Amino acid sequence: MEKRISGRTKLMALFGTPVGHSGSPAMYNFSFQHDDLDYAYMAFDVNVDQMPKVFESIRELDIKAGNFTMPVKNIAAELVDKLSPAAEIVGACNAFVNENGVITGHVTDGIGFTENLRANGFDVEGKKTVVLGAGGAATAVQVQLAIEGAKEVRIFNLKDNFFERAEETKSKLANKCPECLVTVEDILDKVKLEEAINNCDIVINATTVGMKPNNDKTLLDKSLFRKDLVVADTVYDPEKTRMLIEAEEAGCKIIGGKGMLLCQGAANYEIFVGKKMPLDEFAKFQAENQR
Ligand code: NAD
Repeated sequence: MEKRISGRTKLMALFGTPVGHSGSPAMYNFSFQHDDLDYAYMAFDVNVDQMPKVFESIRELDIKAGNFTMPVKNIAAELVDKLSPAAEIVGACNAFVNENGVITGHVTDGIGFTENLRANGFDVEGKKTVVLGAGGAATAVQVQLAIEGAKEVRIFNLKDNFFERAEETKSKLANKCPECLVTVEDILDKVKLEEAINNCDIVINATTVGMKPNNDKTLLDKSLFRKDLVVADTVYDPEKTRMLIEAEEAGCKIIGGKGMLLCQGAANYEIFVGKKMPLDEFAKFQAENQR
């Protein structure tokens, strides 16, 4: 018999579609049980059109906190009562808390990314950074880098639909983080890309390139790698992309996307319940249950 859930248990939830594959319910429910917190976390498969009703439900049912995933992150930012500074610049939120009916939206992709860099011994303050990409993950990373005091954020993207978003990020950051130099270039401009990478401390892939099933793809020629360059990926499947394998072979420090995913979960948990997530215990529990 389920002993943990009672008549007083409060709900937290994930909204978006699809959500069936999400690891969030297992991770947060394990953590609530571990920390003896009276919450339960459920995933709800909803689309953009349903979001106004989702917000009514959050208020009516007093859903305490939770997450938004694709494709509802942008509309969620329009429906919350308040936004964190990063979520306001990004224009999307992937986490929320409901404090006495006031719903605040947060974006934790960028925090997860920089936390993971720190866990790997790299602090972004004062650093020159190159970010490949201008989609959801890339924008969150760019904004967090600027908020945390990076000296430069040089964005490279294809001249596709995302390029305009990069230009918007540049102008928003010029206003909110004027001390950080932000530039936007065409990723196909090999001369500018090479010059930027030769002069930066860290290059970050925040595009979908290299992601399964396109494991053989990379945006960077391996001749660009040098020993004192840090190379990071947001892609977590595979855990080591072709870009990271080639960078490692060239002697660079490499940082993969898996840690970002875990750090983002931990950042959410802290926003939800004000405690550090029992990450090591959850990893042990997962390993034992995969056997
Ligand atoms: P998105 O669809 O919002 O953006 C896609 C980006 O990839 C755009 O900038 C686009 O221009 C670029 N792109 C696509 N094809 C390209 C090509 N052939 N050449 C150059 N650029 C190309 O995607 P997203 O949600 O931002 O996700 C990007 C990556 O980040 C994915 O691999 C995703 O798994 C990863 N991600 C990781 C985490 C994590 O916690 N580790 C969190 C979020 C996203």
